[in-house]
Amino acid sequence: MIRIEPEPWAAMVEHARRAYPNECCGAMLGSIGGDRKTVMEALPLKNAYAGPQGARYELHPEDLMAADQAARERRMDLIGIYHSHPDCDAYFSKTDLQNSCPWYSFVVLSIQRGEFHHANSWLPDFDQSAAAKEELVY
Ligand SMILES: [Zn+2]
Repeated sequence: MIRIEPEPWAAMVEHARRAYPNECCGAMLGSIGGDRKTVMEALPLKNAYAGPQGARYELHPEDLMAADQAARERRMDLIGIYHSHPDCDAYFSKTDLQNSCPWYSFVVLSIQRGEFHHANSWLPDFDQSAAAKEELVY
């Protein structure tokens, strides 16, 4: 299960609302103990997708490496990636699967008409063919 503390959660929702009607993306930093993950910091990253960003996001590999470095400097782990789905459910799309990594949690925030609606966390499997829902607490 993944628990997001109030401060990073507020930052993620705010980021997603600000980016609307585009998708936003960012990194989640915190601690991992067994199968319990605690997100203590949200790090907004740039949506690097070159086309229309209303239904697509892309991370610069350098930004992801910088997030990993930032986590280590804070003695935290890079737990996963969050992104938003403007006017769309918080499901894990085929594109999301293709761009995923099996060792991260992927939190999707559904933003409907500019306001937060619901969120889910996803755990992609190792061949990126499916993602299981992870218990999410925020
Ligand atoms: Zn998506």
